[in-house]
Amino acid sequence: MTTDTPALLGQVSLKGVSRHYGTFVAVDDVSMDIAPGEFISFLGPSGSGKTTTLMMVAGFEIPDRGAITLDGKDITRLPAHRRELGIIFQNYALFPHMTVAENVAYPLRMRRAGRSAIAERVARMLDLVQLAPFADRYPSQLSGGQQQRVAIARALVFDPPVLLLDEPLGALDKKLRQHLQEEIRFLHRRMGKTMIYVTHDQDEALAMSDRIAVMSAGRVHQLAAPEEIYRHPTDRFVASFMGESNFIRVTRADGGFRNAQGQPVPVAAGADTAGDPVVFVRPENIRIEPPEGAGGPGRLDGRIEDLTYVGDSSMLSVGIGSERLSVKVLNRSGSTAWQIGDRCRVFWDPDDALLLPDG
Ligand code: ATP
Repeated sequence: MTTDTPALLGQVSLKGVSRHYGTFVAVDDVSMDIAPGEFISFLGPSGSGKTTTLMMVAGFEIPDRGAITLDGKDITRLPAHRRELGIIFQNYALFPHMTVAENVAYPLRMRRAGRSAIAERVARMLDLVQLAPFADRYPSQLSGGQQQRVAIARALVFDPPVLLLDEPLGALDKKLRQHLQEEIRFLHRRMGKTMIYVTHDQDEALAMSDRIAVMSAGRVHQLAAPEEIYRHPTDRFVASFMGESNFIRVTRADGGFRNAQGQPVPVAAGADTAGDPVVFVRPENIRIEPPEGAGGPGRLDGRIEDLTYVGDSSMLSVGIGSERLSVKVLNRSGSTAWQIGDRCRVFWDPDDALLLPDG
């Protein structure tokens, strides 16, 4: 990896951080260690505490419990402007009366950098975000995506060890968003900055992050790499927030697990849950076949109750007793053309199923 900053700066730690508004708990005992150069996303539904947590790192909010450190230094109560962090908000917040170059130069002027150093650094940043030809334009003469690239250049120009991004692509259409996601990832690889990224978009978090903190009601439910979050969610909330999920109610019997019909449900050993758990399995991991021949343990007989065609794949709703399972099938040429009412049999690799607490 090529980096502009040789020293490994940008280690951020939150220890038992909470923020209340009156009796309402917006952020509830959040702890995490973010490594220098790591790209970490705060992901969760609206109101889950993502922005409040980010604003406490930024210094615009003060925790009422816990501590935040930057490279080992306690910054919990340090004013925002003394933290030297780069910040990008959803609504660009560019200065409308300044050109693109002047906007990008602003943080350096505030820090009383020399003229030639400013010119050289601004030119480099504008090159990086591919806006050199737009240096003399005003923000109103730019598209939303271009404005956000100016904001990115301005946030990075003074070489902060950490960049905080609060839904920076939220106002852009899907195509532009994907394009800018790639640009931000490129900048991340190129500059090696720690990036903390707030989003409520699962795909965005999965595509961009080294690790994702999945939040709900002020708490971090899981903090792990994208694949781990998707494949091994720690609870029902994370499982269902991160994609299509099936949860099968099971009871313990004979050292295994059985569904409401008493059939064995395949699952590798999972979480040690109190009470009766659920078996979690993603629709794309369920295999489906015609019900011919003898079944066998772990194969469940069902009936297609609904079918949604989505082009390259179809989502089948398979009724098994009183339960319904979502099953994703790829529409390859020659694959079975399932119809509503068809009898079928479903099964999956026990390693693709996970035991989760029911609740
Ligand atoms: P969104 O995706 O909608 O921005 P979020 O996950 O970023 O949501 P926060 O903005 O951190 O959520 O808000 C967390 C909770 O704290 C919300 O329920 C919000 O209403 C509440 N909250 C935030 N700021 C204040 C405030 N100044 N006074 C009272 N409640 C607040």
